[in-house]
Amino acid sequence: KKYVYLFNEGKAEMRGLLGGKGANLAEMTNIGLPVPPGMTITTEACKEYYHAGKKLPDGLLDEIKKNLAILEEKTGKKLGCIQNPLLVSVRSGAVFSMPGMMDTILNLGLNEDTLKAVVANTNNERFAYDAFRRFIQMFSDVVLEIPKHEFEILLDKQKHAQGVTFDQELTAESLRKIIDNYKALVQEKAGRPFPEDPMEQLILSIEAVFRSWNNDRAIIYRNLNKIDHDLGTAVNIQSMVFGNLGNDSGTGVAFTRNPSTGENVLYGEFLTNAQGEDVVAGIRTPRPISELKDEMPEAYEEFARTARLLEKHYKNMQDIEFTIERKKLYMLQTRNGKRTAQAAVKVAHDLVAEGMVTKKEAILMVEPAQLDQLLHRQIDPKAKVEVIAKGLPASPGAASGTVVFDADDADRLAKEGKKVLLVRTETTPDDIHGMVAAQGILTSRGGMTSHAAVVARGMGKPCVCGCEALKIDYNAKTVSVGGKLIKEGEPLSIDGSTGRVLFGVVTLKDPELSGEFMEFLEWADELKEIGVRANADTPEDALKAREFGAKGIGLTRTEHMFMAQDRLPYVQQMILAESLEDREEALSHLLPMQQGDFYGILKAMDGYPVCIRLLDPPLHEFLPNQEDLVIETTELRITGKDAKLLEEKAELLKKVRTLHEFNPMLGHRGCRLGITFPEVYDMQVRAIFNATAQLTKEGFQPHPEVEIPLTIDVTEMKFFKERIDNIAKEVMERENVQFHYTSGTMIELPRAALLADELATASDFFSFGTNDLTQTTLGFSRDDAEGKFMDDYLRAKILKENPFIVLDRKGVGKLMKLAVEGGRKTKPDLLIGICGEHGGEPSSVEFCHMIGLNFVSCSPYRVPIARLAAAQAAV
Ligand code: ADP
Ligand code: MG
Ligand code: MG
Repeated sequence: KKYVYLFNEGKAEMRGLLGGKGANLAEMTNIGLPVPPGMTITTEACKEYYHAGKKLPDGLLDEIKKNLAILEEKTGKKLGCIQNPLLVSVRSGAVFSMPGMMDTILNLGLNEDTLKAVVANTNNERFAYDAFRRFIQMFSDVVLEIPKHEFEILLDKQKHAQGVTFDQELTAESLRKIIDNYKALVQEKAGRPFPEDPMEQLILSIEAVFRSWNNDRAIIYRNLNKIDHDLGTAVNIQSMVFGNLGNDSGTGVAFTRNPSTGENVLYGEFLTNAQGEDVVAGIRTPRPISELKDEMPEAYEEFARTARLLEKHYKNMQDIEFTIERKKLYMLQTRNGKRTAQAAVKVAHDLVAEGMVTKKEAILMVEPAQLDQLLHRQIDPKAKVEVIAKGLPASPGAASGTVVFDADDADRLAKEGKKVLLVRTETTPDDIHGMVAAQGILTSRGGMTSHAAVVARGMGKPCVCGCEALKIDYNAKTVSVGGKLIKEGEPLSIDGSTGRVLFGVVTLKDPELSGEFMEFLEWADELKEIGVRANADTPEDALKAREFGAKGIGLTRTEHMFMAQDRLPYVQQMILAESLEDREEALSHLLPMQQGDFYGILKAMDGYPVCIRLLDPPLHEFLPNQEDLVIETTELRITGKDAKLLEEKAELLKKVRTLHEFNPMLGHRGCRLGITFPEVYDMQVRAIFNATAQLTKEGFQPHPEVEIPLTIDVTEMKFFKERIDNIAKEVMERENVQFHYTSGTMIELPRAALLADELATASDFFSFGTNDLTQTTLGFSRDDAEGKFMDDYLRAKILKENPFIVLDRKGVGKLMKLAVEGGRKTKPDLLIGICGEHGGEPSSVEFCHMIGLNFVSCSPYRVPIARLAAAQAAV
């Protein structure tokens, strides 16, 4: 087995074996770009390292040594040589990029002997000592696991002694002292001297990078991003180039386009006289890449040209790391750049316009779930705001929350339901959980490529960074800015799209969609095969849904209409009625109200189908709470004031008690209500058809679909269908108008799915209610599972995903397939859709496409996500 590949032996397609970084270093090498030579140890070797109980696989060392010899020949340098020593970086490189999650060591190969050679060869004592002290620091952190801050303390002490504030002001003498102090610290903490043998340094570093695959923050990151824990990391060993050799050297990070907006301009940051990590570490605030043009024009031009070339080569926006050593450009990394949803859509759109990719390819470039960000809220332009500072617009969207200074606090308070804003000097990978919990992130240091910025953009969280006006006091838990002192727990707002920091709470507003976004979604519509409808209960929601591209309503719930304050008394009267006459009396009041509701929705969705579900929840939901009634009647009895009221309340209590159910989810609900009280369903059906007749006469084109919930048998369905058809006939005759309607059933109980072939004889359509179908197939009550045992099931890997979020293809999906087959056997053109929460979840949409549904239906705000997911499923 081959464990080691020289950069010139690999290519981009070998990413699974070489990791993303290694595969792209190889690709860049082979297209002739200036990449410092090196080699990649495969992810395979990492996996075997773990299989063998953390032991390097046999033969790996020999292979490394063999390739090292080739590398030495290429560079004319030798590891550990005291005339011309080779220095290398040891870089982690996972298959999927995990920025900053794993470890990298620079300047490896330095020891007291090679140090002398570097001093002599560069004629730069300061540089050589600085390189060595950095190496000791990184190596000790990564390999020997001595905390970084122990070294920072020694560094600060020396800065103090020398009377300077910045690292780069330290003299060679000071750096020499620091090296000695570092070494003493290593001896003390690790109980061994710092390893002087370069080969030993190398082997220990490789093992440490393998180990870093399983450090806490890497595991959290993988869980968050659903990355397989078994992939392992590759290790890249690369000869060093130095951006810290003086002012004609530098290092930087750049995107080929703006990762925030997608605008087609080179976008990034650089520092002169700096090494690798300095740009992203947030220690010095870097300068915009455009300024490199004046500083080092030739290197800039070459970089800009290379960036364009890489973009064309990869047909995607690139995120590039580079270093300039004495005016000569070196490429150190390229990858498809992480971007906001806004940028993702714009880049995909523009690449089609520029002829670089096809519409199909463009559709695949945007993560459907990411579109959620575009539906992010903005600061209401009409709101009065007080801007107290300005930082960098690192990740768009606005956020308001109470200030917290610590990731743990953010996490805890968010779990208590509080909205918090995480404020820090900078963030590190250890703060991830706090960033997840916060509404937004605000930092005082670091640029657009700092940790906070990159991670926030990935999460779609608003973020403002590098806001240097903030004076944060972690001990006092306060931040002072713009003449204000804000304490922990007080509100603050940020606008990640502009970088503004705003005093107090501000009003946020829903976003508007760009023309590019609309056009992009139209391409999705051209490619998708499954229809997208929305769930909407009001005309406003229906209009919103149309705006987002829904072609119809897949579910209108009628119970919400019963909950309105002016209707509840009649609904209660209907429930309490002792006789049919009494009930019909109450229903006669509800009829015109329901008719008005349906009129509004059918009109808003003119020309498109509207699926209306008849009453579904158990009746007790419309009555007062039992305990409240007990208290009220007891009080009335004690005071003896209002005998009539007491009688009424006592009556109500009696009814509530008789309606009490041990398991309402499986109780008297759905079409069982229609079986017991057919007149209630009749009223709703009449209201639908009255509205339909009225609209038809007015010249509209209403398409109502009357939907029966929770059926288990075709006999039920036949019972309802006959009544629906009779009422339709009656209304058409009375109003002297013809209109179009259909009737059908939800499939939300296993029995309905099993008997779908029979149900189809009395149904024009099926709609999967996957919320109930999931509950009844798994026997999990949704409200009880979540927060009680669901997490245990996920942790124990009994279930891969929460089945209430991602459709359970294996179980629930099997029933769905059965129902589709059964239904279509009876009626080949049976219309079938899904209206559960799953209808807006990308993986579930894909499944619905696969089993041949006609449409998915989801909340209006998820319609764009479903449209894109449907297109991706089809291409
Ligand atoms: P990360 O994945 O955290 O970005 P990298 O392996 O890319 O880690 O390295 C960290 C930093 O060190 C980057 O800025 C990179 O450009 C720089 N670096 C890595 N290897 C070299 C090298 N051989 N010469 C100069 N700089 C390097
Ligand atoms: Mg790093
Ligand atoms: Mg990198």
